[in-house]
Amino acid sequence: MLRTVHIARKGKVIGKYPEADMHVLVAAGTVLRTDHYWKVGMPRWLVVGRTFDVAVPEPEPEAPRRPRGPQDLGPRFTCLRCDARFDDPEEEKPGNVVMEILCWLCGPVAGGLYSGSRILGKTQHCPKCGSQHLEEQVW
Ligand SMILES: [Zn+2]
Repeated sequence: MLRTVHIARKGKVIGKYPEADMHVLVAAGTVLRTDHYWKVGMPRWLVVGRTFDVAVPEPEPEAPRRPRGPQDLGPRFTCLRCDARFDDPEEEKPGNVVMEILCWLCGPVAGGLYSGSRILGKTQHCPKCGSQHLEEQVW
């Protein structure tokens, strides 16, 4: 049975893809890790994150996102400096993806440690002015 994954970006559904192709699409950048995805059987939309990465056997290390339905898709963050509203802040993590993949190829312990340190050091920025002073909407 072929499962279809729905992809949404900035509040709009941008496409449907076979689940089997997802890791290729994420690797190619067609689907972004900051996009949301949903498929039949899921109670809510989730951030793509590392879900469809290749060679990542561990479960999502990030804190679970707030429940969101398709009707909830809208700006989630407000910049306290320039008042911009946006759904996906620019995220900056220490280290880089290539190192992270290499660590994961060495094994889940090395990969987990590297991913964990990147996530702990992650900062979120306003895509307009770069301010880190963001207010997250609570639904
Ligand atoms: Zn701003």
